[in-house]
Amino acid sequence: MTKITIGVYKSYKNSGYRGHRQQTKKHWCHYFIEYDEYDPEYSQFGSEWVSSLKAMMLKRHVWKKKRFYCTDCEKIWESYVPAKQDEIECPECDV
Ligand SMILES: [Zn+2]
Repeated sequence: MTKITIGVYKSYKNSGYRGHRQQTKKHWCHYFIEYDEYDPEYSQFGSEWVSSLKAMMLKRHVWKKKRFYCTDCEKIWESYVPAKQDEIECPECDV
């Protein structure tokens, strides 16, 4: 199982809770997509609360959804890749 980070955001933990007037602390939430290397059909969106330290680490590894175009087979597709990456092997040609 592989987790790819698609976002790290600050949000309130108990958004629906109105018990106290006291300031609610914001927490980091890690949004990710989970892949199974052995099952290409499987992908699951998930989120989890993380510490601010972990959030800083995860932020450096956020993947972005980018659009790619293959000049060989003229296929256009979208895929999550590390933020700095601009090229990916074509899923059609690379078989
Ligand atoms: Zn191609």
